[in-house]
Amino acid sequence: MEIIVIISLLIIVILVGILVFLILKMKDLLEVERNYSIMTKNYSTVTILQEIMSILGAKIPSGEKLIRINDILINRFNISYSTIVESTENGNIVKTSNIPKELFEQIVNLDKTKGFLEAMKQNVPKYITGIKTLEYATASERDVRSVLMFPLYREEEYRGYWILEDIRSNAFDNVEKVQLSIIRDNITLVLQNNDYALMLENKTSELEMANKKLEEMANRDGLTGAFNKAFMHKVLESVFNGNRRQNSLAIMDIDHFKNYNDQNGHMEGDNLLKGLSKLLTESLRDTDMLFRFGGEEFVILFADTAKEDAIMVAERIRQKVADYVFPFEEKQPGGNLTISVGVAFAPQDAVEKQKLLEIADERLYKAKTGGRNKVVFE
Ligand code: GH3
Ligand code: MG
Ligand code: MG
Repeated sequence: MEIIVIISLLIIVILVGILVFLILKMKDLLEVERNYSIMTKNYSTVTILQEIMSILGAKIPSGEKLIRINDILINRFNISYSTIVESTENGNIVKTSNIPKELFEQIVNLDKTKGFLEAMKQNVPKYITGIKTLEYATASERDVRSVLMFPLYREEEYRGYWILEDIRSNAFDNVEKVQLSIIRDNITLVLQNNDYALMLENKTSELEMANKKLEEMANRDGLTGAFNKAFMHKVLESVFNGNRRQNSLAIMDIDHFKNYNDQNGHMEGDNLLKGLSKLLTESLRDTDMLFRFGGEEFVILFADTAKEDAIMVAERIRQKVADYVFPFEEKQPGGNLTISVGVAFAPQDAVEKQKLLEIADERLYKAKTGGRNKVVFE
């Protein structure tokens, strides 16, 4: 009898032992299972972060970046709603969200929701579950039951917040919270990137504009605004470089300009040069270029222009100057301020810059000796 009891006890002890062993084993197995799920979550964080990084590096506007990042978050984390709000001088602005636009107002107006905005401004994440409508203004309409809210900071400066909302009542576990917090840093980075990119963009365009202005100024004559002689030689060099293309150039000189100076003073002479330069510029076609060649001499390049057309345009300009009423022109011989013009043509006359300038100058001289207020082209 005793033996039976002892054997029974032994069997019970062994069974209990096996049970305890099994339970312990089960716990291990559960632990492994839990770790595995954490691992897969971590793994997926890495892939999500990789996706986010590739978006960060893409050459697209930062607003677009945030939208794409938000899409990834909503899909990968299976979150009901995700909204990124930027705090600006003009108030809070929704940068990206998948909630209906008409509900933006509630998300943006966190002041109404007790303590939320304060938490954000103090750089403290906010997490609430089992939501009642009173606690969270927007919850009822979309049946939101969990909210996780991250402040967004740029360096030390408060820049807005990121609201994750879910219809499940305990939506975000501790692992997810850590993962999302890591991603939050990347969102902050996009905001920061945006600032730097904008700053850089502004500075670059400012610099480009200043450079352009400087370049322009270096090529222009200070008094008349026409291109200067140095630039003229550069341009003509590149246009008339021995090729057989049709280009023409004209040299024009004011008739009796010495008289104008003598009658009205050097200052009025300068003003006349300015006025004439303006009139000439207005008379030119987009492809023509006006250079101040010397004191009262101008050169016009008629690029890609055949002989007949160049003669026509030169004649039209001469006529326009003759017709225009300049100040004090009544004191000029004949009561009119006029110009004389000599035109030369490539390839008919020559194909080199210097030769063409010489020929145009000879024809200008002919125009002067032939009575002035003339265009000479042969
Ligand atoms: P022509 O019809 O033969 O060309 O007679 P002109 O009096 O115009 O010719 P001339 O070469 O004898 O005189 C040119 C004058 O242009 C002399 C010079 O004082 C004046 N001049 C040259 N450059 C400037 C300038 O920048 N400003 C002013 N006000 N006058 C200038
Ligand atoms: Mg002259
Ligand atoms: Mg003159």
